[in-house]
Amino acid sequence: MSEYSLVPGPGPVQITSDAIAARVRDLGQRITADYGSRPLHVICVLNGAFPFTADLVRAISIPLTVDFLSVSSYGSRTESSGEVQLVKDLEQSLKGKHVLLVEDIVDTGLTMQYLLGYLQGRGPLSVRVASLLSKPTRRLVDVPVHYLGFEIEDAYVYGYGLDIDHRYRNLPFVTSLRPGESRP
Ligand code: IMP
Repeated sequence: MSEYSLVPGPGPVQITSDAIAARVRDLGQRITADYGSRPLHVICVLNGAFPFTADLVRAISIPLTVDFLSVSSYGSRTESSGEVQLVKDLEQSLKGKHVLLVEDIVDTGLTMQYLLGYLQGRGPLSVRVASLLSKPTRRLVDVPVHYLGFEIEDAYVYGYGLDIDHRYRNLPFVTSLRPGESRP
């Protein structure tokens, strides 16, 4: 049985692969224009942002470097506690670099707040944020998202990097659970 046939839902948020591709193209063009001749250092937040980062960097046509970090947050799966732990650190220095941090989703904003503090402490010239998704109604802290894919309502979303218990990251689209639907 294919993974697709097991997809639960559909909930209120559905974003097709065509819509994602078009948005990623737009964001890539904006980032290319904004940075111009300034070389860019892209940081992918693992695990969820890997497809978005892979597509986004290929839509940017200026020189860039890429690094990866991984964080885990404590708390239940639906409520971020804000206690974030670095699981995999960066390999490259940020000194003198223009950093673009790429995330899958900004929900409460607590993870992003932690990440921005962590990166700022490492001496970059600038830090901007690109996020595929944002749930503004869930925000607990104000964090910047300079390049946003889609603003979505409060639903549990998965696909295109986002998971349910480590599954479904390979879906080429974003879909969501219905309110109250349990995660399979
Ligand atoms: P925040 O700290 O509450 O902003 O949560 C950020 C992290 O929680 C994201 O990087 C995701 O890993 C995870 N997350 C938040 N909402 C969702 C969702 O709807 N689906 C999958 N993961 C989510």
